[in-house]
Amino acid sequence: MTREYNAIVIGAGSVGAPTAYFLAEQGLKVLVLDELASSGQGQNKAAIGGVRATHSDPAKIQICLQSLDIFSTWKEKTGTDIGWKEGGYCFPIYENKDEELMISILPIQKKFGLDIDWYDSEGVRRVVPGINEKGLIGGTYSPKDGQVSPLLSSESFTNEAMKLGTEFRYLEKVTDLITEGGKGNLAVKGVRTSKGDYKADVVVNTAGADASSICKMAGLDIPVNPDSHEAGISAPISPFLEPLVVDIRPGPEGKTANFYFGQNLEGQIIFCYTPIEIISGIDRRSTSEFMPVMARRMVNLIPRLKNITIRRLWRGLYPMTPDGVAVVGKPSGVEGLFLGIGMCGQGFMMGPGVGLNLASLITKGKPSVKKEIFDYLSPDRDFYSGKKEALK
Ligand SMILES: Cc1cc2nc3c(=O)[nH]c(=O)nc-3n(C[C@H](O)[C@H](O)[C@H](O)COP(=O)(O)OP(=O)(O)OC[C@H]3O[C@@H](n4cnc5c(N)ncnc54)[C@H](O)[C@@H]3O)c2cc1C
Repeated sequence: MTREYNAIVIGAGSVGAPTAYFLAEQGLKVLVLDELASSGQGQNKAAIGGVRATHSDPAKIQICLQSLDIFSTWKEKTGTDIGWKEGGYCFPIYENKDEELMISILPIQKKFGLDIDWYDSEGVRRVVPGINEKGLIGGTYSPKDGQVSPLLSSESFTNEAMKLGTEFRYLEKVTDLITEGGKGNLAVKGVRTSKGDYKADVVVNTAGADASSICKMAGLDIPVNPDSHEAGISAPISPFLEPLVVDIRPGPEGKTANFYFGQNLEGQIIFCYTPIEIISGIDRRSTSEFMPVMARRMVNLIPRLKNITIRRLWRGLYPMTPDGVAVVGKPSGVEGLFLGIGMCGQGFMMGPGVGLNLASLITKGKPSVKKEIFDYLSPDRDFYSGKKEALK
């Protein structure tokens, strides 16, 4: 028997779970399919939970402002605590060229609604107590950014979507799209899984690191290539650090492009770095290199962190696009298929805003941010134009 829905969402992750919720809120009968055993078990749970609108791309700024609004008011709206902590983001700056970069993007960040300012070294010292003062020039601070628990939030989006009638089916991999027509006038009419066929006039691809393979089922060649990043978390210590801190300097050890960390509501220090040499592929085994490199960088920046106990390390995937910008919207030439993919290192913070915009696009024919802003994320753009976001 083929079951029918208004919309099918492929993947119950950082993007899929909120997208299902916002579609259900618009009154649609929604089915969510995930090959894993519950929501948020893909790359969602690898995220360290940072949520910032501090970007240089206007679409990312505005969509993340929407996410911040959704995350920060979620407890009020639903009664569920998802670990929201409004501590802001701080980018401490030690090099003149980085000062120039950060100051040069302030006007665009402010223009698109971000609450952010340049702080002198004294101001940064107040925001990040114990920070290494040697060579500290200053930094940016955006107080309305924050942190959320990825697992608590995906569970809560799922529960709230279910209350609105959404069906979640787990351990069920989408193996094909059901289509009508041919190249140029293809219409997606549903999906095929290992367990059966499901029909819907709208199918949303939010399949994370596997999103390209779903696109190929509709004849679309959209480049989403995973690369891996490691992270870790300490045992809890007394709260002392309000913001998430991003050090954009490449490390002296020659391995790290930047690193970032914060203290969550439980008092744990949670941290991650971006390797200089991108590690392409889907290998998720932890390395012996990560923790010694990370420890040196963190202790150099905040010496008082030298005595923390590390509790757990993990490695996850960024679903990357060539230009470092997500792919959201409806691709031309294929009816019924919508994309919320290629989230790179920012899918958790983008997820709710992307879901809100996709739900609006699907039910009202237009995104909730201005179309010209939304179009920065267009699936029809040239991914290889060479333009990259200044602040990744
Ligand atoms: C170490 C690390 C730290 C990070 N920190 C942050 C951070 O602080 N803030 C932030 O915003 N982002 C962060 N990220 C990035 C973030 O984790 C990802 O961008 C985000 O989770 C991607 O969301 P997604 O919904 O696209 O993918 P996912 O959350 O992986 O969801 C995709 C889902 O689709 C399912 N799926 C795939 N193919 C199929 C199929 N054929 N059939 C059925 N189901 C399928 C998968 O099982 C999965 O559940 C971090 C990533 C890493 C690795």
